[in-house]
Amino acid sequence: MAQMRLDKLLSLQLKISRKQAAALVRGGTVRAGERILRDPAEHMEPAEVTVSGRALRYQPFYYLLMNKPTGVLTAARDRRQPVVMDLVPKDLYRRGLQPVGRLDKDTSGLLLLTDDGALAHRLLSPQHHVWKTYQARLSCPPRSGAAERFAEGVVLPEFTCLPAELRLLEGGSCPLYEVRVREGKFHQVRRMFAAQGSTVTALCRTGFGPLVLPDELRPSDCRALTPAEETALR
Ligand code: URA
Repeated sequence: MAQMRLDKLLSLQLKISRKQAAALVRGGTVRAGERILRDPAEHMEPAEVTVSGRALRYQPFYYLLMNKPTGVLTAARDRRQPVVMDLVPKDLYRRGLQPVGRLDKDTSGLLLLTDDGALAHRLLSPQHHVWKTYQARLSCPPRSGAAERFAEGVVLPEFTCLPAELRLLEGGSCPLYEVRVREGKFHQVRRMFAAQGSTVTALCRTGFGPLVLPDELRPSDCRALTPAEETALR
């Protein structure tokens, strides 16, 4: 990469705004060798610049875990309705951050956001069959034999689902089930239950691959992944 204004360079490499980049420079942690760089307008070679002792080109990707509330679209923006990106606090925001996959507007729970396009692609790729875990509250008990049909692959009008796991968590007239699926087709879990004669009245994703929705993460909150969670994802 050729020489570039320092604030622009930091903004591109760290996926932060120019303003944040200038503040970083003023903080005194940006250096070229031993020299502390103080002027955001100075032109620098990317390979010379370090931030807190780390070379720029090794800056890692960024991963956030959100507890998506119901009533919010899984989208970067929408002209009329609130979107998940509106819930990301400014200090956790990075340019290029995108939700990995989609939850319905009425679905809550674990949503991963990242600027790591390759990882997002891999997690969503139909070949990788990443397991997703949901808790589904139903309008009424499903027809008997539902667990066996889930395990064999529920037959929907357009396709047959991959084998899935169904486990009763709470019985009664409006039971709560845990369901684990390996694909993510449109309204899939709701449609799988509809095929058993039950309507899903509340759906929450509690697991995505190795990630588990933390109990302490309240709806609408998000936090960076821990190093252990990041390692588990790769
Ligand atoms: N299945 C659904 O029906 N909805 C979701 O949001 C996710 C999985």
